[in-house]
Amino acid sequence: MTFKEHVSLASHTTFMVNVSARYFAEVRSVSDIRDLVTNPLWQSERHYILGGGSNLLIRADLDGIVVKNLIDGIDVVDEDDTSISLRVGAGVVWDDLVKWTTERDLWGIENLVLIPGSVGGAVVQNIGAYGVEVSSVVATVEAVDLSSGKELSFTNEACQFSYRSSVFKSSILQYLVSYVTLRLSKSAHPVLTYPRVLEDLQARGSAEHPSPKDLAEVIANIRRSKLPEVGEIGMAGSFFKNPVVTREQADELKVRYPDMPRFDLPDGSVKIPAGWVIETLGYKGYRDGNVGTYDKHALVLVNHGGASGHEVWNLAEKIMNDARESLGMNLEPEVVLLP
Ligand code: NAP
Repeated sequence: MTFKEHVSLASHTTFMVNVSARYFAEVRSVSDIRDLVTNPLWQSERHYILGGGSNLLIRADLDGIVVKNLIDGIDVVDEDDTSISLRVGAGVVWDDLVKWTTERDLWGIENLVLIPGSVGGAVVQNIGAYGVEVSSVVATVEAVDLSSGKELSFTNEACQFSYRSSVFKSSILQYLVSYVTLRLSKSAHPVLTYPRVLEDLQARGSAEHPSPKDLAEVIANIRRSKLPEVGEIGMAGSFFKNPVVTREQADELKVRYPDMPRFDLPDGSVKIPAGWVIETLGYKGYRDGNVGTYDKHALVLVNHGGASGHEVWNLAEKIMNDARESLGMNLEPEVVLLP
């Protein structure tokens, strides 16, 4: 195992902030991970794992070992008339996997098209979009315990998936995800709960019997119309989670803001879109020096170029304080914060 030293991380994260790692290593197999964790340097230094680096804000230089997960491969491990199981390397680019599955008419992850990052990252943060979360198709997750080097296999239940989280996110320094096995369907299972998706399918005449590819194309077009592409500008997708408030609080806010969108959840609480909160606070398209929010989607914090991790975080804190003081809402970051 070789370690590079003093490596800039700007090109390894989609926020493109200018931070560096004291040591940097790449792993391409489970045997690489074993070599890594038995290396004496590993025992003496802190360590951080990078997948696609697309859901991460690194606020300062990392004084330890940064590991880039590049484990590759998409293999069919089980198949019958109705479903198929794919074992996928955690370093595979998530959107490449979506292309692979939609081209083969497989159902399950088409609504998650164009989400940046790796397959491992997708599982760590339980990515979700347009009514689908990756947890709905995860069969098992293989990971290495970074303190013992032991290989572990997690059932879907053991992954403890929740809204944009999992056991791997809550113990981010403990496990390195190596492979994910997904169970996808061969029969039609379109999720059309978001009205815009159905409307756009109707407009192109494929609402009756859409293919996974139809759905992926429609959703990709919606996303492109309001979200930046990776590399176009520094960002990490949605910066905050959607806040969940009590029904009483939502009712009070609705009186003050009749246009406020609200989604009543089965447990009686109410989800308010974080993008609406930030826009209502007047931050849509806001800019302060090198940082700001995207002009077409306030939920995306951006690095206009040359921003430090601290500058981005200062803006995030300012928005969180305003949300608390003006609307009584607690915004929580969806991105992983390091250190
Ligand atoms: P949108 O379609 O304008 O909707 C705004 C908000 O309303 C979202 O927060 C969404 O919640 C909620 N919503 C809309 N229709 C809903 C329905 N039928 N049932 C329940 N909730 C509904 O949102 P957007 O911000 O452009 O995002 C579109 C989708 O992409 C969303 O699902 C969003 O979560 C996802 N997305 C994910 C990321 C990421 O980094 N993970 C980044 C950008 C967008 P939900 O967010 O709970 O779906």
